Amino acid sequence: MKITDPSYTILHELDRQSLPVRIEYSGRICYKSEDRIDKDSAIPFVRRMSEYGHNSVLEMGVATFRVKGTSQKQQDELFRCLPRYLQIDQETEQSLLITGSIRAFRELAQTAADTPVIQAVIAFLASRHPYFFETIALPEPSGAAASLSVDKLNLAAVDQLSEPLLSRHRYLGVRFVVNRAVSHELVRHRPCAFLQESQRYCRYSADKFGNEVTFVKPLFFSEGSTEMSQWQQAMEQSEQIYLQLLETTTPQAARTVLPNSCKTEIIVYTNLQEWRHILALRTPKNADPSMREVMIPLQEELEQTFPAVFS
Ligand SMILES: Cc1cc2nc3c(=O)[nH]c(=O)nc-3n(C[C@H](O)[C@H](O)[C@H](O)COP(=O)(O)OP(=O)(O)OC[C@H]3O[C@@H](n4cnc5c(N)ncnc54)[C@H](O)[C@@H]3O)c2cc1C
Repeated sequence: MKITDPSYTILHELDRQSLPVRIEYSGRICYKSEDRIDKDSAIPFVRRMSEYGHNSVLEMGVATFRVKGTSQKQQDELFRCLPRYLQIDQETEQSLLITGSIRAFRELAQTAADTPVIQAVIAFLASRHPYFFETIALPEPSGAAASLSVDKLNLAAVDQLSEPLLSRHRYLGVRFVVNRAVSHELVRHRPCAFLQESQRYCRYSADKFGNEVTFVKPLFFSEGSTEMSQWQQAMEQSEQIYLQLLETTTPQAARTVLPNSCKTEIIVYTNLQEWRHILALRTPKNADPSMREVMIPLQEELEQTFPAVFS
């Protein structure tokens, strides 16, 4: 068995990559198949995810658009379709800032196909990334949609937005290495997109996992204490039985004996507004100490990177 410390990584580099690259990197965490990423693998991967309807993977790519020339009537139509998973702000009377994931736009193509603003954004997105939309019938853009001007903001442009637009439209991914109890707490934050290493797909007896189970070191017990050796003994036993079960059964069956301390990797992707909410709940003294262990340093780092939002 292997013991590791908890950690986090803000995915700054990834956030600068193209939509397919971001989505592939995040999606492969489930299978721990990051070794299959190469310069040509992203588009075939996202095409497969779109075909299979593995929609949560498509939440990991978010884009921000400025739509100009919208009339009051068109704005009313947009709000009437209750686009729950978009961030929408009116910048000027006729200009809207719209941020959403590939999943959100794919679903709106089906449920709000007659809304000119949605038609215009989807037509723009589909012209640049057709593979996301090959399996769904796209709305035929109306004349009203064709008269709108749509531009995509790059990350640098989003970073220049002032508050509160910055915290609503800037999305940020963080990859955590934590135990399964902490990951369970993380997934309670509903506005986020999550992708997590799957104990159903990952067979820890395989060479790529070192033929062993990895556990996260608990911060509760001091080195050399009786409690620490009791914990270690419990982990060894559960690993031993897990490996025995794998000889006759599947990872999803064998995992039933794995404990909360089992290591997992999870990507949490959401906007800065929700990160501020998560940090407000997960850093105070009443929060789980194992959660605070990663959230307090994350908060400190975000205060440096986005002082307008986190200070
Ligand atoms: C110290 C601590 C102890 C806890 N103990 C327990 C416990 O014993 N048992 C337990 O089950 N959970 C517990 N939790 C989890 C807690 O109940 C929440 O599920 C979790 O913290 C998510 O936070 P949230 O609901 O504020 O916001 P999020 O899910 O992060 O949502 C963010 C915002 O989205 C909006 N929102 C999202 N979904 C809805 C909705 N359906 N309706 C309306 N608004 C919505 C709200 O404005 C909300 O502020 C605990 C959390 C903490 C921090």
